[in-house]
Amino acid sequence: MSATLAAGDRRELLRLATAGSVDDGKSTLIGRLLLDTQLLATDQLEALSRGRDGAPDLSALTDGLRAEREQGITIDVAYRYFATARRTFILADTPGHERYTRNMFTGASTADLVLVLVDARAGVVTQTRRHAQIAALLRVPHVVVVVNKMDLVDFSHARFDEVAGEMLALCAGIGLPDPQLVPISALDGDNVVDRSPRTSWYDGPPLIEILETVDLVADRDTDPGRLRLPIQWVARPADRGRRVYTGQLATGRLRAGDEVVVMPSGVRTTVTSVRTLDPERDVAIPPMSVGVTIADDVDIGRGDLLASPVDPPPASRELDTTICWMSEERLAPGRRYALKHTTRTVRTTVQAIRDRWDPETLEVFADPSALALNDIGRVSLRTSSPVLADPYRRNGVTGAFILIDEHSNDTVGAGIIREARAATPVREGRRDVTWHPSALDREDRWRGIAQRGATVWLTGLPASGKSTIAVALERQLVDAGRAAYLLDGDNIRHGLSDDLGFAPGDRAENVRRVGQVARLFADAGVVAVVSLVSPLRSDREVPRRLHEAAELPFIEVHVDTDVEECARRDPKGLYARARAGEVKGFTGVDAPYEPPERPEVRLDTETVEVSEAVERILAALPAADG
Ligand code: ADP
Repeated sequence: MSATLAAGDRRELLRLATAGSVDDGKSTLIGRLLLDTQLLATDQLEALSRGRDGAPDLSALTDGLRAEREQGITIDVAYRYFATARRTFILADTPGHERYTRNMFTGASTADLVLVLVDARAGVVTQTRRHAQIAALLRVPHVVVVVNKMDLVDFSHARFDEVAGEMLALCAGIGLPDPQLVPISALDGDNVVDRSPRTSWYDGPPLIEILETVDLVADRDTDPGRLRLPIQWVARPADRGRRVYTGQLATGRLRAGDEVVVMPSGVRTTVTSVRTLDPERDVAIPPMSVGVTIADDVDIGRGDLLASPVDPPPASRELDTTICWMSEERLAPGRRYALKHTTRTVRTTVQAIRDRWDPETLEVFADPSALALNDIGRVSLRTSSPVLADPYRRNGVTGAFILIDEHSNDTVGAGIIREARAATPVREGRRDVTWHPSALDREDRWRGIAQRGATVWLTGLPASGKSTIAVALERQLVDAGRAAYLLDGDNIRHGLSDDLGFAPGDRAENVRRVGQVARLFADAGVVAVVSLVSPLRSDREVPRRLHEAAELPFIEVHVDTDVEECARRDPKGLYARARAGEVKGFTGVDAPYEPPERPEVRLDTETVEVSEAVERILAALPAADG
């Protein structure tokens, strides 16, 4: 494969979107950029075969991006590629005039830089204002304004300054970063790649130089802890080889050996290989399309997501969003649509429209009855099944979505997520089970029984001493007149399975359920004392979050006993059985235990007696009359 842009290329990639009014000369500018940059980078591009219009044949790269197009988020946005010696560029091109606003929204949501085109004769017009506002909403990091068609105003310095003034005022008014402004003629090529002799009064760089030098490092989100890989498709090899999961990396980075959590199942696994278009590359970064294989035989389908176990996205059904409405038929409360979020499509109902902005005056109107074509407003949505969403400010891909009319299949809105409420993780498909709120307020209930609920969560290796301490704690609490109840992992699983090891996913679900039960006990005013190995940090995060969301105290206690000491104590003879190979997936023998990083209480049972352990937990527990 000869595409310089892919193989072995270490040049930075800049993602561009264009904004402006339909006649501002976008196509001409794109043509000019493609043409002139090829001249610039002939040495790099020579090896490429040429397509019909003389552009390099980058079908390999285009194929890689098919995944993104299939998401629908960029459904009408075609991509153009060009390169200089310093950088490669992907420009989200937007065919179809009437769809400029909508496509600008979708293209700009993943852009590093938005190019605002202004006709030197017309200056700032409605569409410029609207697009600038969308760029602000989408937090596009860089804005470059090209004042085009300078040849038609005789390269007038005065006219350029007028337009620049309008543009600067606009950006300041809506909170866009100060743009760089360039006077150009896309048609003649002035200040696009080469500095123009006809604008001697302009001392800034030509457009391409700005595109080559804007600072990208700060914009990119390649922290491995922020990994988000929505799965686009699954290739199932006929020869019983490993399945390959394909998708476009949204954030984070990925390489073989990385531990990941599969959402929404919560199953953890290890990545065994990562392939990108570049055979030399062993680390994938956004926005690359990748194919990965994993160590375990886990059921992963389109719409699932691989995330870092450190910080997986919550599964949520209540979304606080900002929507750009794109249909003649109005958006109104009660309406239902298909919501396409990364590679997952769910049904959604409009709960409420909180406000609407006027694109002309930038005024905000509260509680409108509907959103009309091109309106932008804040909308509460509820989805039929969970989406794995992040707020847009944290992730431009998993924080964005489109709305589709289920009858016509048209895209009717594009939106960003302001907040995705981490509801109680609800398993899919049980629409008949809903939460029944109680008429009693918790404080009333607690006052009535003179008790305050909380959860004490003891985690540690098998035979570390969790149950022993939990039993003693429960006893002491009850003796002191407090309602307490021991939820022991073994008791909860009792009768469920004879096998001591967990199937993939079952352990996470078990931890979640125990967390949920503990929360109900705590809500009732009881001190729930949980004794559960719960070896994985990401699994334990779930009960913690459940309690935090319900504003209930959650005291994580790490019963910290060396594994050899545990094996020596081994009251049930489990280590011996696991070490003899009779039990598979036994924590401490052939499954990992991840100690909590910041437990509320840590107990080294080799130096701390059971009675002292209980005292220390009681000290961390809010008092019953607190
Ligand atoms: P787990 O519930 O963590 O599987 P158990 O409580 O069932 O562990 O077993 C722990 C064993 O360790 C018990 O036999 C207990 O008597 C013994 N042990 C010794 N010292 C301590 C201590 N300081 N705290 C708790 N247990 C201890």
